[in-house]
Amino acid sequence: MKALITGGAGFLGSHLAERLLEKGDEVHVIDDLSTGSIENIESLKGRAAFHYTIETIMNEPVLAELVDRADVVFHLAAAVGVRLIVESPVNTIETNVHGTEKVLKLANKKRKKVVLTSTSEVYGKADTVPFREDGDLVMGPTSKGRWSYACSKAIDEFLALAYHKEKRLPIVVARLFNTVGPRQTGRYGMVIPNFVKQALLGHPLTVHGDGTQTRCFTYVTDVVGQLVALSEDPGAVGEVFNVGNDREEITILQLAERVKTRASSESAIELVPYEKAYEEGFEDMQRRVPDLSKLRALTGYEPRVQLDEILDRVIAYFTSDATRL
Ligand code: UDP
Repeated sequence: MKALITGGAGFLGSHLAERLLEKGDEVHVIDDLSTGSIENIESLKGRAAFHYTIETIMNEPVLAELVDRADVVFHLAAAVGVRLIVESPVNTIETNVHGTEKVLKLANKKRKKVVLTSTSEVYGKADTVPFREDGDLVMGPTSKGRWSYACSKAIDEFLALAYHKEKRLPIVVARLFNTVGPRQTGRYGMVIPNFVKQALLGHPLTVHGDGTQTRCFTYVTDVVGQLVALSEDPGAVGEVFNVGNDREEITILQLAERVKTRASSESAIELVPYEKAYEEGFEDMQRRVPDLSKLRALTGYEPRVQLDEILDRVIAYFTSDATRL
């Protein structure tokens, strides 16, 4: 198989590239390095079956050629990270909406399967945890920038599903829940790399709000395994799946304590109001837990790596190279 990964030099994309190469696929990556990095794909560059193009997916002629050569397109290129989204809303909306439009249009021309990575953000403020794929999406007002991310990804989902319904394009939508692991940077606001860096540097761990909001964290290799499984299973076509880990729902305050323990850190924990961390009127999700029954029924998925091990691996990633801190 020949796979194209848009955003393949990103945290998730580079792990997916690794997995596909391991299973014998030819892998092409397109990435503009806006949030990805060459370092992420450094170890893959020497492999004969690995190819990369540093370019934006907005460059349609380049993207068209890459799509033509692929059997399947994993569309990961997107604006990600709550901090980035709050700071660059125009770029977020344009990248997420126009980028996906181009990928789907070009894939449709040549009838190529597309695996679209969406996000649990689309559930918005829904409080019906665990979130089921057929549950309602509850957004805040358009004046609150955070929701533009959820809405842009929801539009992507609508468009992918529309291509399937109207044009029979084989698509699969994966809604990813707080994916973490080595190579994820704290630069765009993600909590685990931020806490780990803070703990290792002896800086205070910055818990936003009162820290009672909860998340479930999924290890990146569990996620890429499911992206591959979904790409291969004919039963996944035209469907939306949650991909996450439902074993441990943890409050962000408990997470800060846990990171300190695993990193043997003496750091303090500091509560930072949302308006200081992001912007005035910022709205967070209070709980986010996936319902994985649909995914389990199809692929037999069980998340393999649990929170303590996830934290240990992220800690090892940062301690193995001081320049990452
Ligand atoms: N968070 C935090 N401190 C940080 C970064 C994030 O308390 O330094 C909080 C954030 O406000 C949210 C949770 O941790 O409630 C998860 O944030 P992240 O950006 O990792 O993912 P999200 O679930 O918001 O997409």
